[in-house]
Amino acid sequence: MRILSIIPPMTQLNTPYPSTAYLTGFLRSRGFQADQADLSIALALKLLSAEGMQAIHEPVSALPRKQQTPATRFFAEHFASYCTTISPVIRFLQGRDPSVAHRIASRHYLPEGPRFTSLERYINSGQHEADALEWAFGALGLQDRAKHIATLYLNDLADVIRDGVDPRFEFVRYAESLAASQPTFDQLQAALAAPHNLVDATLHALTLEVLSRYQPDLLLITAPFPGNVYGAFRIAQAVKHAHPSTVTVLGGGYCNTELRAMDEPRVFHYFDFITLDAGERPLLALIEHLQNKRPLKQLVRTYTRDHHYVDFKDSDIAFSESGTPTYAGLPLDDYLSLLDMLNPMHRLWSDGRWNKLTVAHGCYWKKCSFCDVDLDYISRYELATTDVLISRIEALIDETGQTGFHFVDEAAPPKALKSLANALLRRRLDISWWGNIRYEKSFDAGLCQLLADSGCIAITGGLEVASDRLLKLMKKGVSVAQVARVTRAFSDAGILVHAYLMYGFPTQTAQDTVDALEYVRQLFAAGCIHSGFFHRFTCTVHSPVGRHPEQYGVSLSPPLRTTFANNDINFTDLTGIDHDVFGAALRKALYNYMHGIGLDVDVRDWFEQATSAAGTHRKTRRRLRGAVPRTTVPPNLIERALA
Ligand code: SF4
Repeated sequence: MRILSIIPPMTQLNTPYPSTAYLTGFLRSRGFQADQADLSIALALKLLSAEGMQAIHEPVSALPRKQQTPATRFFAEHFASYCTTISPVIRFLQGRDPSVAHRIASRHYLPEGPRFTSLERYINSGQHEADALEWAFGALGLQDRAKHIATLYLNDLADVIRDGVDPRFEFVRYAESLAASQPTFDQLQAALAAPHNLVDATLHALTLEVLSRYQPDLLLITAPFPGNVYGAFRIAQAVKHAHPSTVTVLGGGYCNTELRAMDEPRVFHYFDFITLDAGERPLLALIEHLQNKRPLKQLVRTYTRDHHYVDFKDSDIAFSESGTPTYAGLPLDDYLSLLDMLNPMHRLWSDGRWNKLTVAHGCYWKKCSFCDVDLDYISRYELATTDVLISRIEALIDETGQTGFHFVDEAAPPKALKSLANALLRRRLDISWWGNIRYEKSFDAGLCQLLADSGCIAITGGLEVASDRLLKLMKKGVSVAQVARVTRAFSDAGILVHAYLMYGFPTQTAQDTVDALEYVRQLFAAGCIHSGFFHRFTCTVHSPVGRHPEQYGVSLSPPLRTTFANNDINFTDLTGIDHDVFGAALRKALYNYMHGIGLDVDVRDWFEQATSAAGTHRKTRRRLRGAVPRTTVPPNLIERALA
């Protein structure tokens, strides 16, 4: 049996999404003929080529005047320049031709469309009125400068594709709204029934190419996010049309969270099976079934064609026996090192390729009230031994020749990291690594230094809403002062620190929000954290808040009749706060903090700037003005916590 795993578009462009690497490694460890293909990078590279520019130009030049946008107009005017520059830019971002950096950095080589000017909006104009881009480069070297300019150039092209070819297009979150928490399949079905646009036609051709190269009997498509789902269905559609006998299976993070109560027969026009949660055991059971060694009713966590969900109780494959991921077959030299953000910590997500591994399956804490704590990917906590982890690391270095690792745990346990660090040092295994943790107090100065010595370069973790009252309510198990001490210990050891931040949590008041930003400002100013991101709280059906809203002061909207996806739920916070008005101010403040700007500014100023940016939206302006209180946080609170 030939098995092919596919990553559908779109996922990150700098490194392969790891799910097919895990599956292929596991299946090969069990003796199967398994291969993988990344149609996300393949699609991006086809569109971002000289041939792609020609193809994009056709619909863009035919746009009626009314539908033209600044991005499409600029592209049409500079079309010749895009045609000559696109291939050198891609080769440069792939690391194949570093000398082009001189021409790109000169800013006389690439066409600079609307994305170059929009940068100005984010930099605090009171601080830097000069050319924001020139300022932002600061002391950056030539290669980084060129990489950032080339990234803005690609972002302009993504806007052109979205405005002129496919309104759903983005490098991430492609056609996401067709799938995210869509109660019925209707919209996705309508999109799949529509004639191919350029993006669809390109993906169709790429699908036929991989089918002819690998001729799979079993095709596994992993959709980690809603932004992969339309692509996944388009691929399955092409497969079922060209090779109806190929068995198609959908799995991945999207299914695990959104399709747990699906009852939709039309899905099976595309897929024969859909599996939930960790894929190893369901796939082994399915393969046995396809080989007539197991009856249908003994499938594991699998929707079948007659849209029944079958869950024969069979133990999961232990994390330590899930095999070493393999990148064999993926075009590792083709990925693009992008530089969206000049902040050194933030760039780790888009710049450079990382071997992906997990230290443990699931989360050892599994209590946070906004998290999917009852789902397998969080609740089933399992460790592999340090020896297993080391052998996976060695195998990946041998295979890829690269020593950068990203541990993509939900929250890597401190004990296991300590043991791993000691083993890396003992064996003189020289790697660079980063990963996600909880800011818990066992990460003291000694442990942080040990981790740094073993190659840790960066750490990410949730501070969420920086408020002790809300951290308690969300059962995060940390306090603001503790996060300050832990992050400072990392930072003192030379490790970059990123904080996941949240706003809009149930019962969060305007005062909480202003105070949270003040804490964040002080954490940046004290050198505890180097980067962050504010997420708006969303309530999911699987989280404690979604299950027991009354305990969190929210009421949920009445449930819709759902036959397809179900994840986010609308809710009303009984405090009546409108959190929308704060989002822009929080993001702008953070963007500036990450560039070291505005750390001495009263946090209320960010909200006032957002007020004037709201321009003619008088209602928004009034709401914001009346809503922003002075912070109650003493200006030296973090300093005191550190002392
Ligand atoms: S939010 Fe993070 S730490 Fe909390 S339960 Fe979820 S995975 Fe664990």
